[in-house]
Amino acid sequence: MNTTNYPWGHEKPYNDFSSFFKTLFKERVQKISIDAGFTCPNRNGDKAKGGCTYCNNDTFTPFYTSPIKSVAEQLQEGITFFSKKYKTQQYLAYFQAYSNTYADIKTLKKLYQEALNVPGVIGLVISTRPDCIDEQKLDYLEELAKKYFILLEFGAESCCNKTLKRINRAHTFEDTISALQMAKNRGLHLGLHLLMGLPGESDESMLACAEKISSLPFHTLKMHQLQIVRKTKMEQQYAQTPEMFNLFTPERYINFMVNFLERLRPDMIIERFISESPPDMLIAPKWGGMKNYAIVNKIERQLIERNSHQGKRYRIK
Ligand code: SF4
Repeated sequence: MNTTNYPWGHEKPYNDFSSFFKTLFKERVQKISIDAGFTCPNRNGDKAKGGCTYCNNDTFTPFYTSPIKSVAEQLQEGITFFSKKYKTQQYLAYFQAYSNTYADIKTLKKLYQEALNVPGVIGLVISTRPDCIDEQKLDYLEELAKKYFILLEFGAESCCNKTLKRINRAHTFEDTISALQMAKNRGLHLGLHLLMGLPGESDESMLACAEKISSLPFHTLKMHQLQIVRKTKMEQQYAQTPEMFNLFTPERYINFMVNFLERLRPDMIIERFISESPPDMLIAPKWGGMKNYAIVNKIERQLIERNSHQGKRYRIK
């Protein structure tokens, strides 16, 4: 296929998020992470106790977030920080820590509205579990989406229920499907998150997942390789039974990711391939300081060398 014929309209061999964002907003838009003090039904005993076996929220919480500070204070501090770094005028409040729809509707309205009242904030990114959403919450988000950009992001993590059970997610892949069905056609931008290389998964089972998610109604996909970090259940499992894990090397991950992209629906926007936990938190795999952008460049190069692109092997079922 000639690159100019890619359905996403630019020359990258995949439908990347930053190009999509540039077409959506006229200027640079910065996400600002917030810890709004939510918890998670997988930690407080509502669904399970102890949380997902890989989870340590400290690995993705920037320094300016703290539930002790109000949502508005956290956003103001984030804006002050980023406005010195970039000439950014517009921001999205990123409700990132824990499960950000896990509260009653009154609490959600108060927190979301507080964020939207901060000057410069033009929308919300809300990260949550697929079993923490209902029609009432979605009706409210649908109302907000008439005025603001609202990205609702569900952690699916795997398409395999056996895996979800093994990592103590306490929800099923069917929960992900019904959350997306409930949330579609409401003017919301819908996102999905997947973790690659969970124990018990093979490359074949993960590639089959690319085909399964391609039939689901969402827009943006975030992925990253499994990383074992400190203060998690997985840290203990890895110490006791390392053979339970088949962690990716950079080379295997790049090759796998190219195969995965080839099976994805072409209009799915790819927001992220990898993540880098802070070095003092990361136990394994250690990729020798290889930076995210270097991996992304290699994925891109391999697609081009194969004369391939996102969706090349995608088949409508
Ligand atoms: S990964 Fe999400 S759902 Fe799992 S324990 Fe952590 S915050 Fe809760």
